[in-house]
Amino acid sequence: MKIWLDGKLVEESEAKLSVFDHGILYGDGVFEGIRFYNRRIFRLEEHIERLFDSAKAIVLNLPWTKEEVCQYTIDTVRANGLDDGYIRLVITRGSGGLGLSPYLCEKPSMFIIASTIKLYPQEHYDNGLTLITCATRRPAPAALMPQVKSLNYLNNVMAKVEAIQAGALEGVMLNEQGNVAECTGDNIFLIKDGKLITPLVSDGALDGITRRVILELADQLEVPVVERTMNRYDIFTADECFLTGTAAEVIPVKSLDRREIGDGKPGEVTQRFISAFRELAESTGASID
Ligand code: PMP
Repeated sequence: MKIWLDGKLVEESEAKLSVFDHGILYGDGVFEGIRFYNRRIFRLEEHIERLFDSAKAIVLNLPWTKEEVCQYTIDTVRANGLDDGYIRLVITRGSGGLGLSPYLCEKPSMFIIASTIKLYPQEHYDNGLTLITCATRRPAPAALMPQVKSLNYLNNVMAKVEAIQAGALEGVMLNEQGNVAECTGDNIFLIKDGKLITPLVSDGALDGITRRVILELADQLEVPVVERTMNRYDIFTADECFLTGTAAEVIPVKSLDRREIGDGKPGEVTQRFISAFRELAESTGASID
C-alpha cells in the first residue's frame, strides 16, 4: 500500500510520524473520511472544504491549497490501483515540544491512506442495526465544536465501547441537555408520518457530508424535511430510522435499547433513500483517471 505523506507517496512501512507530533500527543489535528466508487471520489470538494474549515476553526494554518489537497487525494487513490474504497486524510499539528502550545509546532503533517472499509456486516444492512443509548455524552459545543472533525475522538470511542459491550454495533449519543445529537460515527435520521427528521447540527451533530446528501435527496424524492431538536421519544415512536456516514453509507436501524422501531424491519422510505444514495454515489464524483 502506498501512503501519501508530506509530499511523497511512500510504502506503508515508510509512512512514519514523530512521537512528538501533537496529533499523537494531544489529538491536535483534523481529518476526513472519504469514499470512492467506480474510480470517482464522492463529494471530494465538499470533504476538502470541510477539512479546511475544521483546520481554520482550530487555528491550524495549512501550507497547501484546496486544489492541491484534492490532487494529492486523487494521486493516492490512483497509486493504489483501487476502483472502490475509503480514504482517510489526516492533518496533524506537526512535531513540537512536549508542551501543549501549538505555536511551537513547526509545520503540519498530512497523510492520505486509500484503502477499503466495511464497517458493519451485510446482515445489518439487510435487517437493520441495533442501537443503544450511550451514557457518554457529546461534548458541549463550547467544549468541542461539533462541526470540527478533529482527531479528538475519545468520547466517541468510549461511547462505542458502551455500545459494543451492550451487544450493539452503534450507539446514540445525547448532548448536554439530553437530546439526541448523533451516533458515535454516524448521523441519525427518522421517518415519521412521511417526514424526514434529523437533529440540528447545533444540537451536537456533525455536519455530515452523507447527511447533506440525504437532505438533497429528500428534496428530489419529495420527502419533507424537519431539522429539529430530537429526543429518545422521537426514536421510540418513529416509523423508520436510519444512520448515515461515509464509512457506514446509509444503514437501516431496527431497534433502540431493545425496543423495536416501527415494525423492526428496514422501512420503505429508508429503502428509497438507500437506492437513491447508491445511484448517486456510483455515478458522480471526481474522476481519478
Ligand atoms: N458523526 C460523526 C461523529 C462522525 O465521525 C461521522 C463520520 N465522519 C459522521 C457523523 C458522518 O459524517 P460523514 O457523512 O461526513 O461521513
